[in-house]
Amino acid sequence: MSNEPAETELVCSAKGCRQAAVWVLAWNNPKLHTPERRKTWLACDEHREYLSRFLGLREFLREVVPLAEWRARNET
Ligand SMILES: [Zn+2]
Repeated sequence: MSNEPAETELVCSAKGCRQAAVWVLAWNNPKLHTPERRKTWLACDEHREYLSRFLGLREFLREVVPLAEWRARNET
C-alpha cells in the first residue's frame, strides 16, 4: 500500500530504470492525438537521449524540458 511513489519522487520512464526523473519528454502521436495534446515521458540524465531518439524516430517528439521547468509551467 505504501509502495506508491510519492508525487515528488518521479521515476524515469525507461524500462527497468529506477532513477529519479530530471527531464520531461513531451510527445504527440498524430494518428491518435489532436495536435495540441501532449503525452509525457519522464527521463533521467542517462536515458534522456535514448528516449528522445525513440520518439524522434517516430516523429512523435515535440519538446524536451527540464522537469523543474515543466512543473513551473504547469503550475501557473
Ligand atoms: Zn533512466
